[in-house]
Formats: sequence, structure tokens, C-alpha cells
Amino acid sequence: MPKEEPIRSHNDAGTHQLWENGHPYSTAAILPKQLCNIENKKAIKYQLQNPTTLIPEQFQQYYLDYQNKHQRHFLKCVNLIGQLTFLCYFFVDWVLLPEVGMLSGIMRLSLVLITVLINWLAFRYCKNIKVLDSLLPVYVAIGAAVWLQLLLLSHSPVVHTYIYAAVIFILLGSLCIQVSFRNSIFTSALISTVIFQGVIQLVSLEEVALFFIIYTPVLLLSMYISWNNTLNSKRNFLRALLNDWSYYALTELAHTDELTQLNNRRQFMQVAEQAIHKWPRYNLACLLMFDIDFFKNINDTYGHDVGDEVLRVLADIARREMRYSDVLARFGGEEFIALLPNTTLEDAIAIANRLCRKIEGHQICIKDKFFFNFSVSIGVSQLQPHQNDLNLLIKNADIALYQAKKNGRNQVAIYTCKD
Ligand code: GH3
Ligand code: MG
Ligand code: MG
Repeated sequence: MPKEEPIRSHNDAGTHQLWENGHPYSTAAILPKQLCNIENKKAIKYQLQNPTTLIPEQFQQYYLDYQNKHQRHFLKCVNLIGQLTFLCYFFVDWVLLPEVGMLSGIMRLSLVLITVLINWLAFRYCKNIKVLDSLLPVYVAIGAAVWLQLLLLSHSPVVHTYIYAAVIFILLGSLCIQVSFRNSIFTSALISTVIFQGVIQLVSLEEVALFFIIYTPVLLLSMYISWNNTLNSKRNFLRALLNDWSYYALTELAHTDELTQLNNRRQFMQVAEQAIHKWPRYNLACLLMFDIDFFKNINDTYGHDVGDEVLRVLADIARREMRYSDVLARFGGEEFIALLPNTTLEDAIAIANRLCRKIEGHQICIKDKFFFNFSVSIGVSQLQPHQNDLNLLIKNADIALYQAKKNGRNQVAIYTCKD
């Protein structure tokens, strides 16, 4: 029997669900469903409560992908704003340090042009969000070095007060970081080292001490805000993961029959419709419709709970007999349905007969002492070439099922075209 590409898989609970590249068709989920287990959910909830939220190891790559998708645009804009700010301070240099005003213009413009070029390349080709996140702080460190060089070259008396503008660099460098606080620590240390190196050369030791007293609280505040920003990024990601979970849980409820954990009728109609349209028209598909024989008697004799157990057993047997690509569902009551894509009529009849024999051979055991067997009747219909009407296929299988019942039950009947 041909094995074709999978169109849906059995999920953990044994239901059949539509998948494409590891994701359900209908959602742009962050996580593949395999990772949505109880342990991971607990880990996420724990980290959301944790004051120092950490991203669990297994979600690290998804976290970076998520940030890459959601922070790229912000980082691009903040880089541009930073570059424009750095350029605008040329006017301040021009007024306060007139003898290096021209040099300031040239150096600021050159640096901005180089960083614009680097950014253009980085945001176009670099997929690593941590690198993009650290670009501006590194530019800020270089910008601070350039500015301090200008102060060193200037003999203006206002240099002693102008150095306090250095706090702008640490604010700009720390506040733009969104993804990795570790990067923020490194770049803040780099910017601070550059600034203190320059300040030490510019002013006396007492003034350096005063500068230190003024600079440090700004550094700590900006680091705190940066930590908070990265924490919020992590929490937003974890909350988005929980949303995924809710989505999965709801779709599962909407698509699954509670008793048998098979697809329900609505889900079957959707999946089967897609499956039929997926196959080229010259390909064949068959449909099995099966119904438990004298099920009412089983209920009446052994009780409804035993009847339910029979339905579960039948679902398990049928699930085991189906291929990965078959679409199996509880169609209603004690009636089941299975679409077998890319299957010839001969193969479908063979599967139906095998199913009949497996079911009649299975004994239901009540309280370890009483056993009984049950059987099903199966109707088989075949999708006609150049026709893909699911409702007609179902109707034909139903006619064949009725025939199987009429012929004495516990058997397979095939729908034959009258014309
Ligand atoms: P036939 O061989 O002609 O199919 O006879 P039947 O007794 O199986 O058919 P009938 O339609 O008379 O009875 C179906 C019964 O299935 C009636 C209904 O109470 C029972 N049933 C439907 N859904 C459930 C269910 O979820 N659990 C249980 N235990 N019984 C159910
Ligand atoms: Mg029945
Ligand atoms: Mg019935």
C-alpha cells in the first residue's frame, strides 16, 4: 500500500490533527506542540513568578527567534534616533568648543555614515538579535571616545562643565538594550571605561571624584531600567508561550471527541475536505463508514458505561489499523468514519475486512470475570476519478453500510455505482 507524505499526525492523546512544518495550519505558534507538556508549562509559570525571570534552556532559541521578530524594528529605529542625536550635538560643540567645531562636524558625520552603513548591512543580513541589540551601545562607546578626543583638543574653559554631558552616552547606551542584560553590563562597562579614561585626562582628581559621584547614580539607574526592559521582554515571550498553550488546548477541545479522543465530526469534515483537495484528481481515495452491531443491546444488557468502554476499544483498534495519513473520526453515536487517501478500492476492502476480523476477535472483559465479543459492519465507497465531493463519498459509504447491515452485519459492503 503506498505511503505518502503525512497530512496530519497522531497527537499525544492519540487524536488526529492537522500539521504543517511542525505547526498547526491555523496558527503562527511560537512553539511546536511537542514542547507543550506539563513540565514545560510549570517551568514557564515558575519563571513568570520568579523576580529574576530566566528563559529555560529548551526555549532559548525560540526566545531569540521571538525577539528577532518583535524587536528588530524597534532596534532599527532606536539606532537611527541615536545616530541623529549624536549628529545634532555638533551644534552644541560648535557653540561651546568653537576651535574644534569644524573637526566635530567632520568626525561626527564620518562616524554616523560608517554606522549607518554597518546598520544597513547588519539589519539586512544578521539574524542574531543579540548582535543587533548591542550595536548602538558599541557605537555609543566609540562616539564617547570621539567626543572626549574633541574635548582634549579644545582649550575652551567650558570643558570642565561640558564633561557632564557624558551621562547622555551611558543613558543612550543602556536604555536601548532590550534582549540581553549581560550585553548591557558589558557595553555599560565599556562606555564607562571610555568616559573615565577621557575625564581623567581632562580634569583634576577632585573634579574626577565629583564627576564619579554624579555619574554613578545615572549609571545605576540606567542599568536598572535596562534590566527591567530585558525582564519585560522575557516575560512577554513567556506570556506569549502560555497563549499558545491556551490556543492548543482550545483547538484540541473543539476538534476532539472526548470519549474516544478521535477527531470529532466537525474536524473530520475539515481535514477530509483538505485531504481530498490535496490529492491530484487522478488519484483515488476511499472512505470507510463503520457502525457497531446491536449496540443498543450492549447498552441495555451491560449498561452505558460498558457501552462507552466498547466505543473506546473500537477507537483504539481502528487507530492502530490506520496509516499516518488516514483521517479517522467518531462521526456520531456508535458510528465511525475513516478517509483513506491515495488508496485503491482493493486496499480499502482489505483494510475494512482486517478491521472487522480484529474487532470480532477482541473480547471485552467486565470486572475480570465476564467476557463478550462485539462486531461492526462497514460500508466502503470510493472517490471517483475527476470528482472530489466529500458529501457524496460519505453518502455512498452510508448506503454501503446499510447494505452490510441488511446482509447480516459483521461484514463489509462496497458501494457500487448504479450507472
Ligand atoms: P444496528 O446493528 O442496526 O446498528 O443496531 P444498533 O443497536 O447498534 O443501532 P441503534 O441505532 O438502534 O442504537 C445505537 C445506540 O447507540 C443507541 C444509543 O443509545 C447508543 N449510543 C449512542 N452514543 C452513545 C454513547 O456515547 N455511549 C453509549 N454507551 N451509547 C451510545
Ligand atoms: Mg449500530
Ligand atoms: Mg448507528
